[in-house]
Amino acid sequence: MTDRDPASDDATSTDEVSLHDESLCARGGWFDEFTTPPSNPPLYQTTAFDLHGVEHLEAVTSGAEHGYIYTRDGNPNHAAFAADVAALEHAEAGAVCASGMGAVSAIFLSHLKTADHVVAGRILYGRTSQQLGELQKRFGIEVTFCDANSPETLGAAVRDNTKLCLVESVSNPLMEVVDLPAVIAAVGEVPVVVDNTFATPCLFRPIDHGAAMVFHSASKYLNGHGDVMLGVVAGNSHAITKVRRITSLFGLNANPFECWLASRGLRTLPLRVRQASQNALAVAKFLEGHAAVSRVYYPGLSSHASFGIAQRLLPHGAGGMVSFELQAGEAGVRPLFRRLVETIPFSPTLADVRTTLSWPAGTSHKFMDPDERRARGISDGLVRLSVGIDSVDDVISELDAALNQLP
Ligand SMILES: *Cc1c(COP(=O)(O)O)cnc(C)c1O
Repeated sequence: MTDRDPASDDATSTDEVSLHDESLCARGGWFDEFTTPPSNPPLYQTTAFDLHGVEHLEAVTSGAEHGYIYTRDGNPNHAAFAADVAALEHAEAGAVCASGMGAVSAIFLSHLKTADHVVAGRILYGRTSQQLGELQKRFGIEVTFCDANSPETLGAAVRDNTKLCLVESVSNPLMEVVDLPAVIAAVGEVPVVVDNTFATPCLFRPIDHGAAMVFHSASKYLNGHGDVMLGVVAGNSHAITKVRRITSLFGLNANPFECWLASRGLRTLPLRVRQASQNALAVAKFLEGHAAVSRVYYPGLSSHASFGIAQRLLPHGAGGMVSFELQAGEAGVRPLFRRLVETIPFSPTLADVRTTLSWPAGTSHKFMDPDERRARGISDGLVRLSVGIDSVDDVISELDAALNQLP
């Protein structure tokens, strides 16, 4: 210790100067407390939180004091994003997960055990179906896949041991809109879980219709900038407490930076979803009139099987996702993607701010048996567009130019 200057009352800086370089470095990076809070939420990129002592630990653990202990169990950036999504979904609480698939795992692991039964839509996000298949084969959970367009079929599949019913609000890649009130009426007491990734709470709020839980791949619209892997579940406090216990125990929790980015993305969600929906409707109408296109799947078009349900349940827009079949079939896919590579890139995700293309038969639904895939309406010449918020005039002229050159 160096002698303190008696005129100085700044004990801290004198102590710091006395530290060895190793300690200065190892304990560095801090700033003094200040009274001007940041205008934007800080990132809590920390593994753990310091405690004043054992009493403090006990107070935080018991909930007497609001605090955090270890990021796998909780972090302010998790809490901020989960609370905002829960509020948007009209849910009591929310929980974040490392990805959309993490959210699916957390829901299943927290609400099912061996010999329980699940009723699920037949057309689901590919990995969700695969995960259910895995639970069936390896963990003794029974699953019945049913046509989600037929609520009676879902209802008829319910048994004494049915613990969950799983559907997507807007299905991938044919954009079928589930008649959720009819499904909920048909399955009775069975809690209905909805993947609301494609619709977002800006267009559809499953909990308002009686769903028990909602989840999202926040990697898609909620973040909306194509730079995050994140999942989120919303529901009542009891269900979310169970989900949080599993995310912590099984290590499914998110990372604070992803939550911080997604919170930033969420700020513009209503603007992005509204614009993407408007743009998608214009693109769908354009495609419907193009000679190189044989069929368009967009629930905002009167030609779509879900048009009536969409008019009733999605009055603010049918979303940004459009699929279409090429007149040339699979033979048209490669040339189309090659011609659009500089403008509307092939990107096997969705809900980026820019418009992107995907090929369901070769990406999201590749794992399916090809005959079964075709039987379910996912043809080899089906192309999926995620319409962004780039200029719809540009998108249409780029698509037009590429489609006009197809054989
Ligand atoms: C992407 C997606 C998922 C999986 O989410 P990840 O964040 O990729 O794990 C689940 N459901 C739907 C509808 C999706 O589009």
